[in-house]
Amino acid sequence: MTQESILDQRIVMRGLFAERCVPTIYLNDRRLENFTAGDLDALDIWVERDLVRRGYGWRVPAGTEARIGVGSYDPAQHVKEPVQDLAGRLDADAVRYQGNWFPHRLRPAADAGVFFVGDSAGHCFPLSGEGIRTAFYFGIAAGREIRAVVEHRQDAGRALERYAAFHASHRHAFGLALRLQRLIPALPPRLLTLALKVIGNQRIVDRSFGWYLDQAHPSFAAAQPRPRPAVVQPARRRETSAPA
Ligand SMILES: Cc1cc2nc3c(=O)[nH]c(=O)nc-3n(C[C@H](O)[C@H](O)[C@H](O)COP(=O)(O)OP(=O)(O)OC[C@H]3O[C@@H](n4cnc5c(N)ncnc54)[C@H](O)[C@@H]3O)c2cc1C
Repeated sequence: MTQESILDQRIVMRGLFAERCVPTIYLNDRRLENFTAGDLDALDIWVERDLVRRGYGWRVPAGTEARIGVGSYDPAQHVKEPVQDLAGRLDADAVRYQGNWFPHRLRPAADAGVFFVGDSAGHCFPLSGEGIRTAFYFGIAAGREIRAVVEHRQDAGRALERYAAFHASHRHAFGLALRLQRLIPALPPRLLTLALKVIGNQRIVDRSFGWYLDQAHPSFAAAQPRPRPAVVQPARRRETSAPA
């Protein structure tokens, strides 16, 4: 693959990305937050069905500001009203909104000769809705494969296959989180309160958050991938994946 064809692929990626961003009721949840003045040192979470039937609200410190937001796992539920409701309760102005759909299911990550990372591949973790760490994590994995192509250590088709396999190796964790995302909001409030008390035990917190961190561990950014032997180049290299 030449530098130019990699560039072609990136341009194609943007087009497909935009197409994939069209919200589909089955794959995306809703999330919106606003910025308000504030000087906090703690993160607050609201799990209240009066506020949002299937989801949660938050107030998170962000420098000299606070972000107050609501996420709904139910794509049919709009979240602007609950954000205004929560801001009102906290005596905060509801100003400067940012929000989006967020995907909660993995989608093919290597498709039509394109590498997808982040929200376009459904890498936003279900239940928590954390998508920045995972976007970097999968982006690094895709970048390593592309680098091996540029350095003639593998061809483009192999890079796509390896990246697709890496993505697929996370299916179990994402599937489990999705099942929890469906189960937890369906629990009767008393049972949920009890469950939250039980999982508040420090040992359980350490184990579950340790597992969660491991799914896209930050140390992956520094890890040196095993060197692959260079691909023996025939007189004219075969292109195994064409840009769509
Ligand atoms: C309200 C809210 C709060 C969140 N809070 C957190 C949080 O606290 N922690 C966390 O980890 N995650 C959070 N997330 C999720 C996180 O923001 C996303 O999962 C993450 O940003 C995905 O990264 P990305 O690069 O895939 O997409 P994005 O960050 O959305 O980047 C895609 C970029 O592509 C651009 N683009 C789109 N179409 C085109 C086109 N046709 N041509 C050119 N450019 C285009 C967009 O303008 C955008 O800049 C939150 C999401 C929302 C909506």
